[in-house]
Amino acid sequence: MKKCGITILGSTGSIGQNTLNVIGQHPDKFEVMALSAYSSVDLLFEQCCYFKPAFAAMAEPNAALRLKTRIETQGLDTQVLSGEEGLCFIAELESVTKVVAAIVGSAGLLSTLSAVEAGKQVLIANKEALVMAGDLLVSRAKESGAILLPVDSEHNALFQCMPDAYITGRRPDGVRRLILTASGGPFLHANDQTLSEVTPEMACQHPNWKMGKKITVDCATLMNKGLEVIEACKLFQLSSEEVEVIVHPQSIIHSLVEYVDGSFLAQLGTPDMRIPITHCLAWPSRLPSGAKRLSLTEIGQLTFLTPDTEKFRCLPLAYEALSLGNAATAVLNASNEVAVQSFLNKEMRFSRIPTIIEEVLQKFFDLSASTLQEILVADKLAREQALKLVQAGCYSV
Ligand code: NAD
Ligand code: MG
Repeated sequence: MKKCGITILGSTGSIGQNTLNVIGQHPDKFEVMALSAYSSVDLLFEQCCYFKPAFAAMAEPNAALRLKTRIETQGLDTQVLSGEEGLCFIAELESVTKVVAAIVGSAGLLSTLSAVEAGKQVLIANKEALVMAGDLLVSRAKESGAILLPVDSEHNALFQCMPDAYITGRRPDGVRRLILTASGGPFLHANDQTLSEVTPEMACQHPNWKMGKKITVDCATLMNKGLEVIEACKLFQLSSEEVEVIVHPQSIIHSLVEYVDGSFLAQLGTPDMRIPITHCLAWPSRLPSGAKRLSLTEIGQLTFLTPDTEKFRCLPLAYEALSLGNAATAVLNASNEVAVQSFLNKEMRFSRIPTIIEEVLQKFFDLSASTLQEILVADKLAREQALKLVQAGCYSV
């Protein structure tokens, strides 16, 4: 049987490495055609030595030059590309059926869009692309025949609980609402005093999942769940009133679909991203993922809470951006990216993240987002404004 050709955008990240782990378990099923990273030359080189892709792209041109030298010295047959063009090129390769969109942040938008326009099965982890430009991605997928397969564990769970033959980008029949579960992050029970003293080291400790830094901070502010509410509305074409969030600290139920007849369908599993990744890689079939099997008796209890939206203001801000429409979700995303990076750089406090986002949203709540160009403008304006606010109030809360 012919192997399925794969491109991984962001192969050196947490999702990228988990994807390669699954592919490594099934060398008879998948062939890695292209890999990419921002600037991690050592790791991308190692991945090239093992998986021998036809192409390797590095977003950062100097890193691409260093990788090229190492690939040539090693005598590998991998062509090295660089910049955004390199990423878009490997997203469109003829020999590729599935593109894993695992770049973090808005930096993943253009290459994800290229994969969609080329009609690929796009295994989408890069939630920020959907938050910025979900409507555009969904409509381009309809035109090209691309299929968006959700990797994010909650959306993958929802997808698995959808009616037979359902594909994303359409409103599912008979669904009353979606229930997204949230672990609550490391500060679920923290008081205001603790929240005002959070350091990047504290915020980068997630109780259940091991992930990249940006998403880990998003989990700590609950903005990750806010982004996921938007992601769910775009992928499943539902309104914000139809998507609810509940806190479920054990991260065993990954999300639920409530149907109009009163049935609730849920997907459960150990918190291991190889499960949703394998589901998307094997789709519409199934394969082993290597994840530890779930033992419900070992877990004993599953608990649920209502999120505290006064303590975690990022979640209601995401709902607000959704209701504002237009480019508000792109503005929310861009200001969050800047605020999180500034917090990680120790340029501002953790508790200032929602304040920055709120202020930027207030300024740019009604920018148009009907074209890619307009979305990119909204992203840029929001970033500049967020940066200005960070610089203006370094240590204020
Ligand atoms: P990460 O930081 O571990 O990896 C990010 C990858 O993107 C790396 O390969 C990096 O080289 C690449 N990259 C970063 N900046 C880039 C740029 N400017 N241009 C090109 N490439 C760039 O992130 P991650 O945790 O793997 O998350 C990736 C995406 O998946 C995010 O959107 C995240 O929200 C989503 N996601 C992650 C998880 C998880 O378990 N890690 C779960 C659900 C969703
Ligand atoms: Mg998630």
